Amino acid sequence: MKLTDLCRLVFHFVRTRWLLRFSSRIALQAWQQKKIAAFLKQQLPLTPFYQQYAGLTLQELPVIDKTIALEYFHQMNVANISLEQASAIAMQGENSRNFSAELDGITVGLSSGTQGPRGVFLTSSKERAKWAGIMMARTLPADLLLKLIFSSAPIKIAFFLRANSTLYTTLNSKRIHFKFYDLYKGVDLHLPELQMQMPTILVAPAHILSRLAELKLQGDLPISPQRVISVAEVLEPDDKLRIEAAFGLPVHQLYQCTEGFLAYTCERGVLHLNEEFVHIEPEWLDQEKTRFVPVITDFTRLTQKIIRYRLNDVLRILDTPCQCGRVSLALAAIEGRCDDILWWQKCDSQELVAVYPDMLRHAITMASISLPDYRMEQHGNELRIAIESGQAAMMDEMTEVVTGLTNRLGLRPPIFKSMTYVAGEASSKRRRIRCVSRTDTQKIIEENAEVVHA
Ligand SMILES: [Zn+2]
Repeated sequence: MKLTDLCRLVFHFVRTRWLLRFSSRIALQAWQQKKIAAFLKQQLPLTPFYQQYAGLTLQELPVIDKTIALEYFHQMNVANISLEQASAIAMQGENSRNFSAELDGITVGLSSGTQGPRGVFLTSSKERAKWAGIMMARTLPADLLLKLIFSSAPIKIAFFLRANSTLYTTLNSKRIHFKFYDLYKGVDLHLPELQMQMPTILVAPAHILSRLAELKLQGDLPISPQRVISVAEVLEPDDKLRIEAAFGLPVHQLYQCTEGFLAYTCERGVLHLNEEFVHIEPEWLDQEKTRFVPVITDFTRLTQKIIRYRLNDVLRILDTPCQCGRVSLALAAIEGRCDDILWWQKCDSQELVAVYPDMLRHAITMASISLPDYRMEQHGNELRIAIESGQAAMMDEMTEVVTGLTNRLGLRPPIFKSMTYVAGEASSKRRRIRCVSRTDTQKIIEENAEVVHA
């Protein structure tokens, strides 16, 4: 790392960790508005896609999504990089498993999603240094910070993901040893190396952490990280319990995606939106304003613009203030993707009601102490359930739990079908609950009509 980038990293670390503090939410929002106004004034005229919108306020700009961001990729970055160029470099990295290639000093990365077209991100070396400073400020506990400064031993990060990026390896230095474990090779192959490394910080998708926790509980993995961080997928309640039991630590979460670094766990164990860097407009999904889809504006990223970008995720807010004193919005959970929401019909009408994956997760966790791994898929009026092999006896309990939930919500229970359990690849994102197709209300009307005729 160049000295200027190192200085930048340290500056952003100090600023994020100690200086960006607000006395109230109103003060944070007022500060954000000022930053956003300056960002738009300076950046809209420089970015081809937004030149036509120069002079407008944030609320007047179009809301975009992944499809639009990919279609206008070339016009939404100021590095003059086309989607074809970026994709070619990124795919080259994916195929060779060497993720260090850059385009004119710009790092190109792909999202780790396995469904649909993958998001592409661009970051300059300045942005990478800044990102590393912010990331370290958000994740290093005080004792590790002291170790980083005063101890001769380096901090060792073990990072499991399906793709690496020079964005992440920016953290690598004399004081921080960053090691990437490629999930394309599975988990087990990495275990000897992981034991040799003895990581101080362990970062991985939740289902990988859960697998490592299982090995640790069996006495087969003698590592003792001082911080465990879940990334890239929903942290399921049973995994959380297992990981915390195995490592004797609260599991932290980082909500980092192609579109930005959106949330992190504070020292009180609560997820906070990273609102000092990203503006998040909630698109509420319910009248009670408990769940929302985030529309994000990263007012600190310059190379690639992320402005009013609607993510495909559902976030649930925490209804009590966090004791840590931060005024940024606290989350109860990142529930998953919008298309993981199940839709079932009311008992007394044809109206479809959203059943959020978290409602099911909560009901299942409450009902069962020894929860097996499972998958649930809505296919129209059917709910197909797969249960980890050898645990078929749990099927009745699962259907009972789901029926109980539909009764409480005043919904028609689905038709239950069992399906074969297939454990996913280590490198694929786990989605336990998903909606393949919604309830077919027309079919129900016809079925009811048949009953009346009979
Ligand atoms: Zn907090």
